[in-house]
Amino acid sequence: MKDRARIEKYLRRYEQGLDTYENEHPHWRIEVLVSLIQWGLKSLRHHVEDPRERQVTWGNPFAELHYEVGWKWESRNGRDVAPGGHIFGEITPKDVANEAKANTALARIMVEQLNAMTLADATNWAWYEKRKNYYTPVFPIETTAKLNAIKSKRARREAFVELMRPFSIGEARVEASVGKLKSGQRVPRRMRKGNQPMDIPGIQLSGEINGRKFDIGLIFEIHPLIADYDQKKAYHPVVAGLAVLGGNARLVDGEMVQDTPADWPKGDREKFWEELLVEIAKITAALIPKAEAEGSVILSVNSQIKVPANCWSPEHRSATIKQIADLQSLAGELQDFRVHAIDSAGAQLGQPPCQVCGWIHDKGFAQIRINERDIITLRGILPDIVTLVHRAHEKGFRALSTKDDELAKVCGGYGNPCKAFDDLKHREDYKRLFDTSRRGFISIRGVLGKNRNKSESSPE
Ligand SMILES: [Zn+2]
Repeated sequence: MKDRARIEKYLRRYEQGLDTYENEHPHWRIEVLVSLIQWGLKSLRHHVEDPRERQVTWGNPFAELHYEVGWKWESRNGRDVAPGGHIFGEITPKDVANEAKANTALARIMVEQLNAMTLADATNWAWYEKRKNYYTPVFPIETTAKLNAIKSKRARREAFVELMRPFSIGEARVEASVGKLKSGQRVPRRMRKGNQPMDIPGIQLSGEINGRKFDIGLIFEIHPLIADYDQKKAYHPVVAGLAVLGGNARLVDGEMVQDTPADWPKGDREKFWEELLVEIAKITAALIPKAEAEGSVILSVNSQIKVPANCWSPEHRSATIKQIADLQSLAGELQDFRVHAIDSAGAQLGQPPCQVCGWIHDKGFAQIRINERDIITLRGILPDIVTLVHRAHEKGFRALSTKDDELAKVCGGYGNPCKAFDDLKHREDYKRLFDTSRRGFISIRGVLGKNRNKSESSPE
């Protein structure tokens, strides 16, 4: 009870904190958007400047990045998966053990929530459910109802495309198989197309570093979330790129040569990136809607950035969509918080102990409560490994061969379950979950009665 009460106290404080933040930062979505652009550019810099990187280079400075968010993989109350299965954060009794820890934890969760909400708002809270390479679009219930109410098939299709299109900043859209690339992968040139609706057209930066001129356009896209149910990974594909504009082409021996920072000395290139990040921070002020309409805002210090004024705000989308987004924002706020208090954990996972292994776990083995104190949270291929061993027990086997074909397939490049847990930094969980005392075989400890109902007295 004590833990539960303490967590609830901090949850209330968290809600108050969010309110205060929203009051003090009425344009927080824009501030968060700009911080996401900075995150994208930092990652882009990392790829472009890495000498081993062959794909994302100055010749092709575009990268697709994956912004991971917390996701609820199990459906709620047996209902079908509800749109916006976001989980903004998790609080455990340990997180709120004292004032300082609680403040750190709440700040971390607030950042996660604000980022996730900005990304979702920018993409209409629409997402793709991905299973075995099939992508099924999912909308908030109200959006689906509104779409279905559109009589004309063509108009409905157009509304659908508009809802699913990425939020984009730049001269042109990056198209096609975004979301099918690995994080940090280059975006093939042929994917980039013009003549598409943009949320914020043309943020341009021009200036000079030690007499070297640059003239570039920012490209930034947020794609609808992809919830990959096979990999148990939910993320927004985010494309960050720089378009080198014509302004700095020069004639060398009768040929037009595009002058890019690629040819600059390393020190100047570093300075370029640092200034770029500083300058980008300044677009926050320019993006905040102003009462009077302005053509564009020019900010000038070392370089110049031209930002078209008033072109994006969450309200920029149609009134209907905005209404839905607001509704979803509210719905998504705190009800999806997972609270891990000792006395409520059984209820949290929503089931009595499993008949097979004696532990409390969800169907997908993303979370396994192995005793009163500990919940093991698994992601990626690890839940699949547990699933296979568990299935063997369900069939009555005492153990599963580590050379089992299906198991080997799931382990993929890791070769065996132990290596997979080791490499994915779950070595301790491996020891707690499995018994491997029979060489070449693996079984779930709970089945053997080991560790069952025994609360470990490990020190805090
Ligand atoms: Zn079980």
